[in-house]
Amino acid sequence: MDFSLNDEQKMLIDTVRRFIAEECKPLEDEVEHNGFLDNAKAQALHSKAKALGLYGMNMPEALGGGGLSNLDRILCEEQFGHTSDILIRRAFGNVYEPLLHCKGAQIDRWLKPAVAGTRTCAITITEPGAGSDAAGIKTHAVKNDQGWVLNGGKHFISDGEWSDFFLVSAKTGDKDISMFMVDKGLAGFTVGKDQKMMGLRGTPHLELFFDNVQLEDAALLGEAGQGFKLAMGALNVVRLAQVGARAVGKASHVCEMMVGWANERKQFNTKIGDFQMVQQMIADSVIEINAARWMVYHAAWMLDQGLDAREQIAMVKVHAAETLGRVVDRAVQVFGGMGFCKELPIERYYRDARIYRIYDGTSEIHRGVIAKSTLKKGAALFDVNR
Ligand SMILES: Cc1cc2nc3c(=O)[nH]c(=O)nc-3n(C[C@H](O)[C@H](O)[C@H](O)COP(=O)(O)OP(=O)(O)OC[C@H]3O[C@@H](n4cnc5c(N)ncnc54)[C@H](O)[C@@H]3O)c2cc1C
Repeated sequence: MDFSLNDEQKMLIDTVRRFIAEECKPLEDEVEHNGFLDNAKAQALHSKAKALGLYGMNMPEALGGGGLSNLDRILCEEQFGHTSDILIRRAFGNVYEPLLHCKGAQIDRWLKPAVAGTRTCAITITEPGAGSDAAGIKTHAVKNDQGWVLNGGKHFISDGEWSDFFLVSAKTGDKDISMFMVDKGLAGFTVGKDQKMMGLRGTPHLELFFDNVQLEDAALLGEAGQGFKLAMGALNVVRLAQVGARAVGKASHVCEMMVGWANERKQFNTKIGDFQMVQQMIADSVIEINAARWMVYHAAWMLDQGLDAREQIAMVKVHAAETLGRVVDRAVQVFGGMGFCKELPIERYYRDARIYRIYDGTSEIHRGVIAKSTLKKGAALFDVNR
């Protein structure tokens, strides 16, 4: 068992870290203040990242991506957690793995442009009446001579405004669910309001409406009735990367700020870091961050070995998201009034952290998955020697 990182991995982390410090961090306050990222700045950020080979690093090299292993990708995603959601999207891309199921002409039309960042894709599963119960959707597609006719609607769709096409889940039978690539601009496809959120300022979250949208046969991902399963499987790694690893990165970043403040801020003629109750908040944060990090790395390693890591990723989703929540809450406490004040970014991190326990499956849903699997498989889920 080797826990060390090799020189290439260290260099990769260093490159991403430097890019975030030099190119993303200076934009954070502006995004927070304006509630959006200026288009020209978004384009510039994208071009610089792309020139360094930092866009679409999770995608295969043959498609123009970075060809990173799951573990190497996780190391980058951890660094992404140090900055704001919208800046990660523009600089590094959220190129979703389900698109890798594109075949034939779909590859040039949807997959390759997504990897290149010339066409951005959003993933749309959630509806007002179907969130945790992702199979309970009402959006449906009916076969006709020209392909499929799509009706229904989605909400909370991250980055919907910027996206050129959407991966949409729709019922294609009583129980069958399929995935479709739906281009913006098709007749009958309209975009609703931007649903304002507690955090993640700068990333729009949109409602989408489909009213008799005619789709070509080519818009279907995988086989009818199978695409949803394919997509949900591929979303596992997205959950590990975009929630698990980013939560660890964000918690580390916040912890660093908390430690810096504890070493600087003086009360009663001494550093607040000298008080044992402050030390406990730091110690608990460090313990939990390290535990979450190794869970993330282990799950990524399992994926690289071709092992089924579904349960491990569910555990990561719960533990990393909840660790972030506890760490950022302690950070507000250690910063005192300044933790609550908008002059420092701690209150922003506090707001941004809250969503980690909700999207990509709530903590309750993942706990349910873990409990059911454990009741079925027993010690295999908590004792590596079994
Ligand atoms: C900022 C943001 C961005 C998002 N981006 C996207 C996106 O890009 N694409 C997309 O498709 N979706 C997106 N979502 C949707 C997100 O994935 C859902 O909000 C999430 O899955 C929860 O669904 P819900 O909000 O309908 O809550 P509900 O499913 O209504 O859950 C409400 C509560 O009930 C609990 N609950 C539900 N079922 C069970 C159960 N079986 N056992 C125990 N407890 C249960 C939940 O844990 C939760 O506490 C986004 C949401 C937000 C807020």
